[in-house]
Amino acid sequence: MSQAERSENSSKSNVAVFGASGSIGSGTLDVIRQLGGSWRVSALSVHSQVDLLTSMVEQFSCPLAIVTDSEQAEKARQLRLPSTTRLLLGYDGLLEAAADPEIGTVVAAMVGAAGLESSLVAAQSGKRLALANKESLVIAGDLLTQTINDSGGELIPIDSEHSAIFQALQSGGPSEVQRIILTASGGPFRTWDKQRLASATIEDALAHPTWQMGRKITIDSATMMNKALEVIEARWLFDLPPEKIEVVIHPQSIIHSMVEFVDGSVVAQLSPPDMRLPIQYALTYPERLPCPCPKIDWTQSVNLQWQSVDLERYPALQLGWEVAGRGGTSGAVLNAANEAAVERFLLGQIRFTDIVTATQQVLKQHEFSSNPTLEELMRQDRWARMEISRWTA
Ligand code: NDP
Ligand code: MG
Repeated sequence: MSQAERSENSSKSNVAVFGASGSIGSGTLDVIRQLGGSWRVSALSVHSQVDLLTSMVEQFSCPLAIVTDSEQAEKARQLRLPSTTRLLLGYDGLLEAAADPEIGTVVAAMVGAAGLESSLVAAQSGKRLALANKESLVIAGDLLTQTINDSGGELIPIDSEHSAIFQALQSGGPSEVQRIILTASGGPFRTWDKQRLASATIEDALAHPTWQMGRKITIDSATMMNKALEVIEARWLFDLPPEKIEVVIHPQSIIHSMVEFVDGSVVAQLSPPDMRLPIQYALTYPERLPCPCPKIDWTQSVNLQWQSVDLERYPALQLGWEVAGRGGTSGAVLNAANEAAVERFLLGQIRFTDIVTATQQVLKQHEFSSNPTLEELMRQDRWARMEISRWTA
């Protein structure tokens, strides 16, 4: 290994974890703890959960701690952080860490559009962007992928389906791909009578059958907006037209997704549902290292079922193909409308089925532009949130 390669590798193992207090963030910390060796947490951010910061920083001797929520600034200043840790407040702190030349890998594990700007800065800085924050690609897929290409950075997916596709694609060249098949668990309402969905409660929607995740993505999984966002995410990550992206329901969440090649071979990635595996792969790629995740026990019968998606039950999914095909401002509007509608559902202000109805309407009404700047995307994001805030059934 040359000196240059050694120094590139050592900077890659200096990791910034944005959204360290969340489900993916804590999974990432666990992975880095288990990897040991030269892997370091060089920066970490929390938003509201300031109380978690001190112990996380101490555990990883982390030199940079960021609190993004401005309302928590006073509380953050009173923390007793080690003298070797610098505290940064607000989103500027994230951007500083995302551009820090000492940091080689940024794990984007914040939820929502709030993750976009730091993803873009990490991409501009030529780093490895290990992306859980799919919203970054949904809002600004064109901009983000172009930025990565221009800077020579890397974009490695953490989302389990996309990690599976990323792994399976290593079996053939781009022109040999017939289609990709994203799997979906179907969420908690897969077997519900469709008429009952309008009366689904917050608790019903948060009861995901196979994954433990943050609240927003759990609601997205119940409406299947999550899979719509993933269709868009796949379109940008793998540069595929929407007609080459399919979705199938697979309730066990063991086959994480598949690639069908032109000769009819299907290459899939299988493992019990545990996000630490795709997180670790995004960090160590192209290497594979032992992982503490559970393994499939092939001495027991493994139940793998699949079925086609009922688009009447999950009308959100159609929006994924629509927006993946249309591009421009439509991803920013879809994402913002959905984020705002999920928030209103979680506040008890709208019904479960209103999330998708309201999002569809706002998407239809928006002033489409095909080649937007970042400012235009942000303007449309604000407009969509405003529309949802005054939406009534
Ligand atoms: P969580 O809700 O568990 O965690 C969200 C993280 O983002 C927390 O650290 C939170 O900080 C921080 N955060 C929340 N709001 C803001 C904000 N406005 N500005 C800055 N930081 C903020 O979410 P998940 O870990 O489940 O999901 C994170 C991302 O990963 C999402 O984009 C999701 O779609 C994606 N993903 C998640 C999967 C999973 O299994 N969980 C699977 C695939 C993708 P705090 O808690 O301190 O307020
Ligand atoms: Mg996923």
